[in-house]
Amino acid sequence: MLVSNELYKKSSNTQKIRCEICANYCKISDGNFGVCKQHKNINGELFDESYGVVSSLSPDPIEKKPLHHFLPGTFTYSIGGFGCNMTCLHCQNYMISQDYDKFSRAIKITPEEVVENALKYNCRSIAWTYNEPTIHLPFSKKTSLLARQKNLKVIYVSNGYFSHRSLEEVLGFVDAFNIDLKAMSDDFYKKVCGADLGVVLDNLKRIYAEGKHLEVTNLIINGYNDSSDEISQLCDYVVEELGCDVPLHFSRAFPYYKMNDISPTNAETLYMAREIALDKGIENVHLGNI
Ligand code: SF4
Repeated sequence: MLVSNELYKKSSNTQKIRCEICANYCKISDGNFGVCKQHKNINGELFDESYGVVSSLSPDPIEKKPLHHFLPGTFTYSIGGFGCNMTCLHCQNYMISQDYDKFSRAIKITPEEVVENALKYNCRSIAWTYNEPTIHLPFSKKTSLLARQKNLKVIYVSNGYFSHRSLEEVLGFVDAFNIDLKAMSDDFYKKVCGADLGVVLDNLKRIYAEGKHLEVTNLIINGYNDSSDEISQLCDYVVEELGCDVPLHFSRAFPYYKMNDISPTNAETLYMAREIALDKGIENVHLGNI
């Protein structure tokens, strides 16, 4: 599907284009894909090769997203595709985000069918989850607008690596976000995820300032982002730049993908993180994968 020309820029003298769907701002030459491998330059125009192609569909309890303070006790119809705009070495869903050629089968579905399924399973919302939804913006937008017409709420479970333009679009149709704040170190974001921490922090502030429902998740990895200093810094950011009312989830990491030499996160580290967050005044702190 041809991407709206508001989401990419053409070059005046070459066939190269600049995709502006996420903060990678990939410069893509003719015949090639961007980092997410879902968007292709064909003759100087940007095509979304992932439109209507999904990897996973399932009615899930909303608490699994995790969202504990938005429509609690309800089911959300969850949809995920393939690919990602980050390259996290520890990705817990790498079978659909990175190595999907080896592991996963594609399902074709229309926006109308997604909404019909959500209603059939008595879901109160649809959730874009499992892989990064931003890279599927054209499909998620069309489907979400249709879902809202049927009184379904819309959820984004995201790494927060939106471009300025795409976040503006997403804020127009998403009701609730869970954003993964992976660490408070630039170095971690660069080396482990291939991304820029500052972009995520700015986008979190913008989502909160818009008054959207926001919960934040931090996956704690032994030896990488598990120090009390870094956890304190993350909690300070939530308290000072967002608000004490933003629920914070600490989650346990397991050895996966290219980070299979770590041990599962120590339970004590999660309990310590919860204590720090509660001491800082964060009102709702949850532990996951434990
Ligand atoms: S969505 Fe992001 S990663 Fe994918 S091509 Fe566009 S800028 Fe690159």
